[in-house]
Amino acid sequence: MRRAFPAAVAIAAVLAALVIVANTALTGIQLGELKLGPVLGPAADPNFVPGGAPLGQIGSDPDDPSDPWSAAAPPGGVIVQTPGPTAGPNATGSIRIPIPKNVPTGPRRVAIQAGHWKSDEAPDELRRLIPQTGAAWEGVTEVEINLDIAQRVSVILNSKGVAVDVLPVTIPVGYVADAFVALHADSDGVGENSGFKMAHGARRGPYEDALLNDIKDSYGAATGLDYDPIHITNSMRGYFAFNWSRFQHAVAAHTPAVILEMGYVSSDDDRALMLDRADLVANSIADGIMKFLNDTPRSQIFGHDLVVPAFPSRPSKPSSSP
Ligand SMILES: [Zn+2]
Repeated sequence: MRRAFPAAVAIAAVLAALVIVANTALTGIQLGELKLGPVLGPAADPNFVPGGAPLGQIGSDPDDPSDPWSAAAPPGGVIVQTPGPTAGPNATGSIRIPIPKNVPTGPRRVAIQAGHWKSDEAPDELRRLIPQTGAAWEGVTEVEINLDIAQRVSVILNSKGVAVDVLPVTIPVGYVADAFVALHADSDGVGENSGFKMAHGARRGPYEDALLNDIKDSYGAATGLDYDPIHITNSMRGYFAFNWSRFQHAVAAHTPAVILEMGYVSSDDDRALMLDRADLVANSIADGIMKFLNDTPRSQIFGHDLVVPAFPSRPSKPSSSP
């Protein structure tokens, strides 16, 4: 039987070799401690832009450090999708943001940022925040309110099995969690305004309206404060922590993120609420977050790549005239 079916043996050998090649393509080659390849996933895409690399124009003045010229890819990189050759003249491109590699496992994870806390430790890219120490009124500072409420929310969420990071101004690079809530308290400088305000950013995941509305509903109902939509500012919508295209120290685009201006420290009523009924305030924020988490499983938040509109391209430099 030694010489039986030589052709079949040869075919089997070829098939075995093909299986090895296919497996290598999927898993790479393990050489002791060193693993070679494979180059699969987003990084293999010719339109992949690595973290920190330019991604289009967001500023207008290349010489003004507070007006950054380029959007930059977030940690983990993105894939730029340009309109195809058959697209209409007004078609714009898009940016595909891959699912983060560091999605938390285990208990749900939430970040509560205490606005202005440790602003002096802001990294260089956020150095303009260092002097922004927050509002103050009659000896009460916004940051002490923000931190106190953040810590109370953290204790409540912990008791419900949720892991919490109480974050200062400086957010870990490409921070990923199931939800992110920045706490602030405002001042109008005269003591007339009362109420709370909320906002989220643009070019982010699809669950931010849900997070905002869940907190808005529970906060308004428990505190009795009016919602103050008139004074929602662009600096709330463009809050640095949401702005992954400008700062590496920002919340990953997949992570639902909102800012809550809990009330006006300059209002006697709002200030008394935040100081004297801090547990009620904290409970109402925690309730809104829990509703959101219960309605929105992690597998949904991190189930897909995000596709968001591209930034305008940087204009090409005019050629210098002789
Ligand atoms: Zn503030």
